[in-house]
Amino acid sequence: MIIDSKLPNVGTTIFTVMSTLAAEYEAVNLGQGFPDFPMNEELAGLVRDAVSQHYNQYAPMPGWMPLREAIAEKIAFLYGAGVNPDTEITITPGGTYAIYSALTTILQPGDEVIVFEPAYDSYIPNIEANGAKAVTVNLVFPDYHINWEAVKNAITPKTKAIIINSPHNPTGSVISQKDIIELRKITEGTNIFIISDEVYEHLIFDDIQHQSILRYPDLLQRSFVCFSFGKTYSCTGWKMGYCVAPTPLMKEFRKVHQFNCFSCHTPSQVGLANFLHNKDAYLSLSAFMQQKRDYFVQLMEQTRFSMQHSSGSYFICGTYERISDESDKDLAIRLTKEVGVATIPVSAFYQNAKDDKVLRFCFAKKKETLEAAVEKLVKI
Ligand code: GLN
Repeated sequence: MIIDSKLPNVGTTIFTVMSTLAAEYEAVNLGQGFPDFPMNEELAGLVRDAVSQHYNQYAPMPGWMPLREAIAEKIAFLYGAGVNPDTEITITPGGTYAIYSALTTILQPGDEVIVFEPAYDSYIPNIEANGAKAVTVNLVFPDYHINWEAVKNAITPKTKAIIINSPHNPTGSVISQKDIIELRKITEGTNIFIISDEVYEHLIFDDIQHQSILRYPDLLQRSFVCFSFGKTYSCTGWKMGYCVAPTPLMKEFRKVHQFNCFSCHTPSQVGLANFLHNKDAYLSLSAFMQQKRDYFVQLMEQTRFSMQHSSGSYFICGTYERISDESDKDLAIRLTKEVGVATIPVSAFYQNAKDDKVLRFCFAKKKETLEAAVEKLVKI
């Protein structure tokens, strides 16, 4: 049988490639973004309780109502937004699925979506699987800020949406209030949707305020805002997240969602609903992870990598002009096989594999893991 591929230019995601290689060579894995420390024990216990209490059948299609109510309360507390849990929040199996569903909800063949590169690697395949086209705008190297003039020039009558992502994967850059003003100027009076990937909302450093789209009612009217419990509670393997969108947009989103996964893992939703009132669990995360960033940066000073700045996310990028002039991909493979540390080459986040010779390191790791990695990295 021959398949006329929907994604002819796509191979296996770089995260799987590097994690597989890391496992094969028993390398310290600073590649794929996941914590290697235990998640919150209380939350894990609440999910175990939910299983024991027989919450093991389908949850309602849009999500377990007490969880949606708890999310609405949290959104009001954090961002001052009044979101209706009945019609404007849907629980999804992870942030990536929320983004894919939002794109599938709005895209028609031939539509264009503006994507900033480096871009999280699912966005463009998600767009193309829907018969639409990604129009890429490069974030400006080396601090990866948005060039709004370039965004303006990329807009055409076919532009259906802009995807924004702050804190940004892979670079750790964040959008500012100034960016929000530009985004407003560019979208005002148009039919352009915003898909806002905010999975790292609670991983933002140096007391920077997260510029959630939920703070801006006028922008929220045209937005699908996507979140991840996995990132917030250090349980990426749970694949739990949610999407927030105004009622008419969410109505269409649910038409897609109901015939895809239909509803999410019930015990996790029950456990999360009982845990979300614990503000400290998410408010303390930034400081906890900032310490890891700072410790990793300090350790990396012993190496010949030049670390860039990370204002948020699990990640920090580094250049290696003092080490080699190989491509980032070749170096990432060689580091894994010969040095024993896996990273992600940032060229994997560009459609044309633009290589600024940058590697992405995940610092959401135990102290010992970061130390073990740097002990190896000092050798090159
Ligand atoms: N978000 C994670 C990262 O950026 C990986 C998720 C995945 O492997 N699909 O590394």
